[in-house]
Amino acid sequence: MIRFGPAGIGKVKEAISNLEMYHKLGLRTCEIAFTYGIYIKEKEDAIKIGKKAKELGIKLSIHAPYWINLNSADKKKVEESKKRILDCCKIGTLMKAYRVVFHSGFYGKMEREETYQNIKKRILEMLIEIKKQKYTPKLAPEIMGKINVFGSVEEISRLVKETGCSFCIDFAHILARYKSYRIKETLSEFKNAKELHIHFSGIEYTEKGERRHIRTTEHAWKELLKNMPKDKEIVIINESPAPFEDALSGLKIYKK
Ligand SMILES: [Zn+2]
Repeated sequence: MIRFGPAGIGKVKEAISNLEMYHKLGLRTCEIAFTYGIYIKEKEDAIKIGKKAKELGIKLSIHAPYWINLNSADKKKVEESKKRILDCCKIGTLMKAYRVVFHSGFYGKMEREETYQNIKKRILEMLIEIKKQKYTPKLAPEIMGKINVFGSVEEISRLVKETGCSFCIDFAHILARYKSYRIKETLSEFKNAKELHIHFSGIEYTEKGERRHIRTTEHAWKELLKNMPKDKEIVIINESPAPFEDALSGLKIYKK
């Protein structure tokens, strides 16, 4: 089964009515965007939204704040980054969100292998804390679209194998990073996973990788959908500038 849905659930006051509208239109997933901060603060709101989503069969995930660098040379920044991700796991537990997606960090002046080891270490530390606190969402480091940002297909799949964390495959980012969707090769890197959490949109890019997300064309949707495996649970979150409309167009093309 493929679930389609947008990045964004709207303001706290609109979240329930948005979920109802998504449901009515056939959308079965939604990623709550805490990209500029965790704006759902009240426990009651989180529980209410989670309950509603479950009732409507909408699978929730969370996108953690952008201000994260698990490879910072500044220890304080690393701790703050971990806290932001763990805070998402905490509220995500109340909402029954199944994934917390995050951008892991930057290479900076460091070697790729050293960066990898730093980020791996911090993910392992967070996994211990998640277990201790009994948080339920899985950590999902995302494949990134800029060449100077940590998160190649190989790096993320290695993290999955070596830490047991989950992942987020962003095919728009892969197109920007590798100049091709590389769908078959990428899926084979994650072939052991029963569930795929995917981001998709159109994208503008240069030789350095991602420039910006743009609307999702019919052609791009078809390219993605024809390559999706039939034996997995798949969640596709649209991250275009019109994520709701584009998730709906994806769903329509899929149904056809
Ligand atoms: Zn993404």
